[in-house]
Amino acid sequence: MQLTVGDIIRLLEEWVPPRIAMDGDKIGLQIGSPVNRVNKVLVTLDVTEEVVEEAIRVGAEMIVSHHAVIYSSIKKLRTDSYYGRMIAKLLAHDISVYVAHTNLDIAEGGVNDVLAHLFQLQNVEILERMHNQRLKKLVVFVPATHHEQVLSAISSAGAGWIGNYSHCSFNTPGMGTFQPEEGSAPFIGESGKLERVEEVRLETIVSEDIQERVVAAMLSAHPYEEVAYDLYPLEIMGKPFGIGRVGTLQQEMTLEEFAQRVKRELNVPGVRIVGGRDRKIKKVAVVGGAGAEWIDSALQRGTDVFVTADLKYHDAQDAFYKGLAMIDPGHNGMERLVVPAVVIFLQNRFAQEGFQAKVLASEVLTDPFYFL
Ligand SMILES: [Zn+2]
Repeated sequence: MQLTVGDIIRLLEEWVPPRIAMDGDKIGLQIGSPVNRVNKVLVTLDVTEEVVEEAIRVGAEMIVSHHAVIYSSIKKLRTDSYYGRMIAKLLAHDISVYVAHTNLDIAEGGVNDVLAHLFQLQNVEILERMHNQRLKKLVVFVPATHHEQVLSAISSAGAGWIGNYSHCSFNTPGMGTFQPEEGSAPFIGESGKLERVEEVRLETIVSEDIQERVVAAMLSAHPYEEVAYDLYPLEIMGKPFGIGRVGTLQQEMTLEEFAQRVKRELNVPGVRIVGGRDRKIKKVAVVGGAGAEWIDSALQRGTDVFVTADLKYHDAQDAFYKGLAMIDPGHNGMERLVVPAVVIFLQNRFAQEGFQAKVLASEVLTDPFYFL
């Protein structure tokens, strides 16, 4: 099946819905068109000219980036400037660029979960809750003969999850009526005659983020030409979404020991540390990228150490005097591990949907810093 940029965006946004991104964030399709065809996707933390050259070299028609390629309004696009030349190359080679930034930080399995997992945190919770999953009730009327088939199709598409239970549904038998009119091609019955059919009212719950996928699965499993179904918005809230994660270490260790773990797991040449090296660490908060604004949230959660990047002198001083230890492993080092997570997500979803396209992780190191 031929894959388009739009298909890939649809798959990604089931995982990283744009509505969970922080206000004003620069996300979504920034260059290209949803109708463009894709055989190869390149996943990267940043779009630099070197990454664009890499995309051209490997034949990628689409780049999925964590950081935006366009972050402020463009007043001119001169091809004698670095930025203009890079955008011109993308356009000349018809390469689309899609950005998932804070929605990828916040999403389950995104940047912050990757970090919590890497640091082996237990009982992981969200540091700062921001949204909840929106839920809908899906009701569909299906002939008794096809009830199992439709239930199985919508459950496989992800409907009917309550906590750790899948396939949750309620099913009431009843009688459906319809009369095929001119121009119809009915599965049961004949034109102009009122039909009575034993049907089941199948009701279940579905997250708004995967609603399209579930309805498509339902329609393709349902035998009727015109499917009767309802979607009701619900007041009850689904799973929470938010920035950062907080969790505990299996065993208490010193700040120095934990900093060594951070350095090793992230494979960075050094980390900046605030706090005495012998301090005992048990509870850890993480925010991928620049997270200084959540120092107080980390303190309120009883955190011993807060791992985040781009710490300024006064942020560090603030944390120090409030008694919070901090580790800054650098922005790039902290976030680049989300690239393989995006690659694996797309590879799995392509396989499930029967798409043949390839997904590659960029091999360009985009970190402008190095250590002496
Ligand atoms: Zn970042």
